[in-house]
Amino acid sequence: MSKQDMDNEDIGTRELRINPIVPTESVLIATARSMRPQKAEEAAPRDTRHHVERCPFCRGNEDKTPPEITRVPKEGDWAIRIVENLYPVLGDDRKTPDMIFGLQQAINGYGRHEVIVDHSQHGIALHEMSRSHLALLFQTYQTRMKELYDTDERLKYVLVFKNFGPAAGASMAHTHSQIIATPVIPQNVQDEVEHSKNYYEKNHNCIFCTLVDEALTYEATIYDRDSGKVVRKIDVGQYVVERGEHFIAIKPFASRYEWEVHILPLQHKSNFINATEEELDDFANVLKRTMQRLDAVIGGAQYNYFLHTIPIDQKYDNYQDSYHWHLEICPRTSIPSGFELGSGLFVNTVSPEEAAVQLSDVVLDD
Ligand code: AMP
Ligand code: ZN
Ligand code: ZN
Repeated sequence: MSKQDMDNEDIGTRELRINPIVPTESVLIATARSMRPQKAEEAAPRDTRHHVERCPFCRGNEDKTPPEITRVPKEGDWAIRIVENLYPVLGDDRKTPDMIFGLQQAINGYGRHEVIVDHSQHGIALHEMSRSHLALLFQTYQTRMKELYDTDERLKYVLVFKNFGPAAGASMAHTHSQIIATPVIPQNVQDEVEHSKNYYEKNHNCIFCTLVDEALTYEATIYDRDSGKVVRKIDVGQYVVERGEHFIAIKPFASRYEWEVHILPLQHKSNFINATEEELDDFANVLKRTMQRLDAVIGGAQYNYFLHTIPIDQKYDNYQDSYHWHLEICPRTSIPSGFELGSGLFVNTVSPEEAAVQLSDVVLDD
């Protein structure tokens, strides 16, 4: 190919986007990267089995997990179980003291690591679960988070997350999520909480609420000053993937992952633990529909999701107006390379605008 041909080739979108919530985090949108010659790799087929004899999370194998913390419902066949993690990354069994030696500092790995068996059916995908089951799952997260905060004041943050599929780091095929409670607030959460507080102080408004308002209403055309030609049309509404009565699913403008979607309350709410039953029912609907859209577009999505909510600590009492809880869903369609690791920049090869159109165009049965 001649240099001329190469220059004429469509390079797609190529821009650095700043995350409005955490401005220190940027994303490189480089759609041409997705055109790199790649060996077509078939995604491993999803494990759709209902029951697996040797799976420790399947019904009937309850004795293959460490002690059960809770089950829902309490009587009869369980729909959801929470158990101690067999290989916890944090725990309280070893009393190693904190250590500081020169530049080597370590704090004792105190904390909790629990597994939530999301459903009794081994290979069920989230979008195949009923709306009422999803509402129950998020209620279960809520109850357990509250218990952990109430019973152990050393725990400063309770992170709920889910890994689904090997590309998302899941080592167990049976659908599950996890709770990791730490004696420090994770840096990601601190960054969001602090940056949104700064925004609030300058603008007297929650940045997440502003984002929701923009997504619902904002349209703009930017003209060239000299020629009067349209330089760019911004239709922020195009980022809305799904909308319920109380929740909205948005494709972030600075998405780190190709198919990343965030779900957040339409009204200002800082604390997930306070979400009502009615709200969680609507949340379940928005989540299910969003996952159906992802499944239709990328087929058998392997993803991580995690909940970000205000830390429960007196220190954050005056952050209630500036922070807004949300769920971040990050489908894993590419593996970070040396550039991402070395630069700290996320590279996204699908334009968020294009991804939003594809996701919102999926026709779902009501
Ligand atoms: P993932 O990180 O998504 O692979 O989550 C699976 C988790 O389940 C891991 O943290 C494992 O330590 C944990 N695990 C594996 N086998 C068992 C078991 N039999 N009982 C309880 N937890 C388990
Ligand atoms: Zn199973
Ligand atoms: Zn808000």
